[in-house]
Amino acid sequence: MTIGILGAMHGEIAELISAMIAQSGSRIERIGMRDYHVGELNGQPCVVALARIGKVAAAATTVSLIREFNVTEIIFTGLAGGIAAEAKVGDVVLADQLIQHDLDASPIFPRYEVPLLGMSTFATDAALSAELKIAAENFLRDDLPHAITQKNQDIFQLQQVALHVGTIASGDQFISDIAHASRIVTALPEVLAVEMEGAAVAQICYEYGVPCAILRTISDRADATAHVDFGQFLDGVASHYSAGIVRRFLSERSSRSINI
Ligand code: SAH
Repeated sequence: MTIGILGAMHGEIAELISAMIAQSGSRIERIGMRDYHVGELNGQPCVVALARIGKVAAAATTVSLIREFNVTEIIFTGLAGGIAAEAKVGDVVLADQLIQHDLDASPIFPRYEVPLLGMSTFATDAALSAELKIAAENFLRDDLPHAITQKNQDIFQLQQVALHVGTIASGDQFISDIAHASRIVTALPEVLAVEMEGAAVAQICYEYGVPCAILRTISDRADATAHVDFGQFLDGVASHYSAGIVRRFLSERSSRSINI
């Protein structure tokens, strides 16, 4: 069992890579301009990699994780813009399914359908997502107050954060325009958040039969101030969130396997 852990930006996985070096040491393999950090976290074999931004980058990295490192499950952590009213900055969204909001080969294929695959939405793995959900709930309740500085908790109003499970939409666009965000919501009312990688990872995992989970922290509201909120959130909050939830997941899983 080897867990593949992906992030879109360095800040999101830096803490995990440091923990891996401290715990087991890490071997770096460089493939296709990407570094794959191979080692153990909480005694579990893991490969941590920077997928980089966008669907192509994420899909390519996912294929390498599966083919070169034989990972048996994949977790993607990153940021997202909240577009449903309830998805507020600081909240966590766990995808149960993903769709590419910018995919349109109509009228040859129905809008959103991946040509020749006949599918528009890709489900994440229910069991893996349920495990991550518990870890995220525990992180938000127990760890967040210590992991994030009081100043950043106040700036981003992280006192009342929530966890949502639902649809995430991915596209090769940073959504920072309320009109664009509302076009997506109107066309796909079930979407909670938008980002740029998850649906590509979920599609590749479906095609290779590898369970995946996609976990996102809301960094902005996909509106005109999205780029400002995004930058501040990435620096002060995001890295601690992503790593904190994944580390919690890994330690809860290793204590479960000891108890069995
Ligand atoms: N300005 C950044 C670019 C980040 S792109 C930089 O210089 O590095 C945004 C990243 O966060 C992507 O990985 C995407 O998945 C996610 N994301 C966060 N908010 C988003 C939004 N409003 N629209 C699309 N993607 C968003």
